[in-house]
Amino acid sequence: MSEVHSNHPPKSPAQIRTVDVVVVGGGITGKACALGLAQLGLQTLEIAPDLGQSVSSPQGAQWGQRIYAFSPSTQKLLAHLHIWDAIDHSRLQAVRDMRIYGDRGEKNDQLHLSAFEAGTPQLAWIGEANLIEHTIDQASRFQNKLERINDVVEKIQVDADGSTLYLKNGGGIRAQLVIAADGANSPIRNELGINASEESYSQSAVVANWLCEYPHLETAFQWFLPGGDIVAMLPLPGKQVSMVWSTSPEQAADLLKLDQAQWVDQFSSIANGAIAKQLGALTLNSVPAALPLRKIRAKRFIGPDSSPKVVLIGDAAHVMHPLAGQGLNLGLRDVAVLLNILGKRESFRTPSDLVLLRRYERQRQGDTSALLWLTDKLKKLFSASSSTERQLRNWGLGLVNKSHFIKQRLIERALGEIDFE
Ligand SMILES: Cc1cc2nc3c(=O)[nH]c(=O)nc-3n(C[C@H](O)[C@H](O)[C@H](O)COP(=O)(O)OP(=O)(O)OC[C@H]3O[C@@H](n4cnc5c(N)ncnc54)[C@H](O)[C@@H]3O)c2cc1C
Repeated sequence: MSEVHSNHPPKSPAQIRTVDVVVVGGGITGKACALGLAQLGLQTLEIAPDLGQSVSSPQGAQWGQRIYAFSPSTQKLLAHLHIWDAIDHSRLQAVRDMRIYGDRGEKNDQLHLSAFEAGTPQLAWIGEANLIEHTIDQASRFQNKLERINDVVEKIQVDADGSTLYLKNGGGIRAQLVIAADGANSPIRNELGINASEESYSQSAVVANWLCEYPHLETAFQWFLPGGDIVAMLPLPGKQVSMVWSTSPEQAADLLKLDQAQWVDQFSSIANGAIAKQLGALTLNSVPAALPLRKIRAKRFIGPDSSPKVVLIGDAAHVMHPLAGQGLNLGLRDVAVLLNILGKRESFRTPSDLVLLRRYERQRQGDTSALLWLTDKLKKLFSASSSTERQLRNWGLGLVNKSHFIKQRLIERALGEIDFE
């Protein structure tokens, strides 16, 4: 979008509509944010090219390709938006235990996190992205302060009073505040010149769903493998697991070509056969897909400096390695914090008041930096090949496993803290 200007930029003010807030982006973060803003009573417009049709409810034994771990902070936000209870809970699997294994294959190189020990009912839920999107779509239909447009933002102009957005189909929108939920490549972030640090992990994640022979015992498993690969098996309802295998792009391309029998060979050989031992025979239950992995952090979460009338949320602000299953959860905490700040703003402040936007940015920096740092360091520690680092990381897993205090802090971070006042 940065250099693309609309073929039909609106010329006359009559063509430009005015609303309080525009949310750009139709992913889960954008949808949840738009619904929440409308619930606050703000006239909200959501714009994305994928808003044409409501996402249909997932059905049947074939599970969606995009499977996520949802943290308790996400559950709290969805409950606050009045949609948690409307979700089809038969398609959500609670995670009560997490078992993480080091890459030496030794018995003590493992970390066990337990909901029971931590005094919490569950550590997370695993479910399909379209399950959540469908439920948000349903709720959005009944929200009269929310309008959705199936379009693409081609250009944004920010001035002292707000922003004007020019759309591909020719219209224009004027808003006090623009929320950029337009994903990792965020055209808005780029056009406004908000710098972002970006690093490729030179890895892709191969995702697939498997029917498993043995019950998964409501446990999320993760194996760090020699050479830097990471295999996670996340429990789904019934005897089914969702795999996220982070590996080199070349190996990912090879994995996508495997047939069922070749996959079985893979599972019997990797992690000393631990995957097959834990879950029994695995039968492929989806078409595997590969996604490139990278780390991105925007330098500012509001912008531009001259007149910050724009807020970045979700992947537009930060992207991380999926090893902790936290990217979307972090984005939804952006939403929760923004809704909290706008919901309790003083009556004399407009939604784009600089004090509010700076408050948002300050509150999101700590959580974002800590999670990006932790996932990045873990990823790099387990990719390092020297024998010292190898010993250190495996010894570290065992050591953390013995410390109730550290485990409790790790679980607190994974649960994610948000409060609605
Ligand atoms: C393999 C893998 C596994 C993962 N697992 C987990 C997990 O278990 N738990 C977790 O919390 N996270 C997980 N994540 C992270 C998660 O996928 C992302 O953080 C999340 O999908 C980002 O959502 P978003 O709404 O911010 O962006 P997106 O979903 O990318 O949405 C961006 C939206 O912006 C729209 N858009 C873009 N440009 C424009 C424009 N010019 N005009 C209008 N609209 C525009 C797009 O059409 C789209 O609708 C995982 C990621 C990967 C790769």
